[in-house]
Amino acid sequence: EKKEKLDFIREIIAKDLKSGKHDTVVTRFPPEPNGYLHIGHAKAICFNFGIAQENQDVNARCHLRFDDTNPAKEEAEYVDSIKKDVSWLGFDWGENLYFASDYFDFFYDCAVHLIKEGKAYVDEQSLEEIRETRGNVTTPGTHSPFRDRPVEESLDLFARMKAGEFENGKMVLRAKIDMSSSNMNMRDPVMYRIVNTPHHNTGDSWCIYPMYDFAHPLEDAKEHITHSLCTLEFENHRPLYEWAIENCPVPSQPRQIEFSRLNLSYTVMSKRKLLQLVEEGRVSGWNDPRLPTLSGMRRRGYQPAAIRSFCHRVGITKVNSVTDMSILEAEIRNELNQNAERRMGVLDPLKVVITNWPSDDHSEKVTVPNNPANDAAGTREVSLGKEIWIERDDFMEDPPKKFFRLGPDRSVRLRGGYIITCTGFEKNDAGEVTEIHCEFIPDTIGKDAPEGIRCRAAIHWVDAATAVTAEVRLYDRLFSEENPDAAEDGFLSCLNTDSLSVITNAKLEASLADVPAEAVFQFERVGYFCTDNVDHVTGEKIVFNRTVALKDSWRS
Ligand code: ATP
Ligand code: MG
Ligand code: MG
Repeated sequence: EKKEKLDFIREIIAKDLKSGKHDTVVTRFPPEPNGYLHIGHAKAICFNFGIAQENQDVNARCHLRFDDTNPAKEEAEYVDSIKKDVSWLGFDWGENLYFASDYFDFFYDCAVHLIKEGKAYVDEQSLEEIRETRGNVTTPGTHSPFRDRPVEESLDLFARMKAGEFENGKMVLRAKIDMSSSNMNMRDPVMYRIVNTPHHNTGDSWCIYPMYDFAHPLEDAKEHITHSLCTLEFENHRPLYEWAIENCPVPSQPRQIEFSRLNLSYTVMSKRKLLQLVEEGRVSGWNDPRLPTLSGMRRRGYQPAAIRSFCHRVGITKVNSVTDMSILEAEIRNELNQNAERRMGVLDPLKVVITNWPSDDHSEKVTVPNNPANDAAGTREVSLGKEIWIERDDFMEDPPKKFFRLGPDRSVRLRGGYIITCTGFEKNDAGEVTEIHCEFIPDTIGKDAPEGIRCRAAIHWVDAATAVTAEVRLYDRLFSEENPDAAEDGFLSCLNTDSLSVITNAKLEASLADVPAEAVFQFERVGYFCTDNVDHVTGEKIVFNRTVALKDSWRS
């Protein structure tokens, strides 16, 4: 087998192990608990946890760390959902579960250290003033009037900030770096601010909170992360990351390396936008099957293995790009084709009466394979009786030549069963076909059509006497534009208002009467479906979500 080429980050890691720079690898996945995880996060999860798995020989590990340093937007509900989604995706953090909020003392000590070294100061300017005096790409910033205040004064004020003496925004702690740096992030960035909001983990203990750019390198160093892998937007924050590591009393020297984030067509992935969709009721919740959230994808029937192979296929590079939704769906289909059992289900039922069927209403059993793509899946028996359901569009009153399914005097095979010939049909006053009459041809199960009968197709069907009725939810793309983020009138302006359609009267074969939630099947000729993990009640109410159609509908 040909060995796959390593991506540039795995190459760096391999080199660091070989040279002895590190004797193990420690990565982390550091979500902020301010929303549910989405498919973009899955890329980071597969990458970081994947590296740990691949380097088991040196006891590599991957930490799950909640980056919970901003009390205003974070909630315990998100912490729980994130853990659940990471586990569902197939990764195990073992004992390596961390909360950045457990390091508040450490961050504080580092800040005090910087002040004592003359490398940070308390600035009493407003955030507005700080922004205005920062300069721009062509103009250097101007020094704060508080920049050169005595160390003792900053130490005192910082202690009082911590003690809760001041209101939000009254003052901040800034690093003293270089107001004329060509990198704006280095122009005396804010390190701490006052936020008088209770925190989900630490309650009222703190009213000052570190900024991401200060906290993140310290979190990594504290946990002895060797390679801190993040997305490309942090590339020009790296000098600040390195500055913090160099100037604070930290126990290890992590290295930040950036890779490009995952972007998907026809959806949005910013947590702010996802939250807005949820809060405004434009979707049913974070787990709405139309969302790119992992909980939405799970509910829809996407399999973790398929998401993992999608992330693998997308790969790790430094090139920003948008991945086509059809690539993801191809992975989903591929996985389900191998592993989802086949069943018969009719979404738009039309009654067929087999007029020459023995009238004592007995039904017979026919044997059908559970998965033609996987012999190990075996076979099952389905009932066939005098009345069956077929798909409305498998019949045409006046079919064209190329239509190989059912029409007057035409024959078709019932999947796994007999060949039937249409002898007539009934209509209602509205001109709608209400019932079809057919005759079955004995001795045609598993056999060619007899002389004189043209039978060119096999259609799916469900025995009416034993069928179960189900609700089936069909999903379309949530946005009508390929890149909703770029829509002139905002992403909501291209929300597809027809992204959900609900069928309440689908007819399914009897074997689907008692399936559990999150069971996936291929309904033959129709698509892949999964029982809903919220509204499906085994044995009481059957609710299926369409996971994906059989054929690609994205590139049309
Ligand atoms: P948002 O910008 O929507 O708030 P985020 O990137 O801030 O999302 P975090 O909770 O900070 O969300 O993300 C946790 C980790 O997941 C980070 O290391 C981040 O780089 C990574 N990540 C987030 N989105 C993507 C993406 N689209 N592709 C790859 N990695 C991602
Ligand atoms: Mg964020
Ligand atoms: Mg972020």
